[in-house]
Amino acid sequence: MEALFKEKKVRITTFRKTVYEIFEKYNSAISVNFIESELNDFDRITLYRTLKLFKEKGLIHEITFPYKEKKLALCKEDCKDNTETHNHDHIHFHCNQCKEVFCVDIPNFPKLNLDNYKIDKIEIQAVGTCAKCA
Ligand SMILES: [Zn+2]
Ligand SMILES: [Zn+2]
Ligand SMILES: [Zn+2]
Repeated sequence: MEALFKEKKVRITTFRKTVYEIFEKYNSAISVNFIESELNDFDRITLYRTLKLFKEKGLIHEITFPYKEKKLALCKEDCKDNTETHNHDHIHFHCNQCKEVFCVDIPNFPKLNLDNYKIDKIEIQAVGTCAKCA
């Protein structure tokens, strides 16, 4: 993790490490509420800033499916994007049973060119039953 932080130019702090470790512990996307429930003692503003920084530096990305709470997931290590718009060649799989969201790589992720429209990212959502619940 420390090498990754260095590569993405994120200064290491104990709190940032703790938050990143929560993401590493779960293989599904997690909500801010969930992260809060995993932390014992924290300052909400620091957490908010940490998540914003992680997003900007390409450590985590947001899943923009219309849920009541947004979910966040780890980026691939090669995510170079340090803007709000992450471009990942994977789909977001939403399990109807456990309600978890998983980042799933697929071969041949579509590349589109549209006249008169500039695409920042293509987000593909799939809904169904995950391997754990099948
Ligand atoms: Zn990313
Ligand atoms: Zn499931
Ligand atoms: Zn994802």
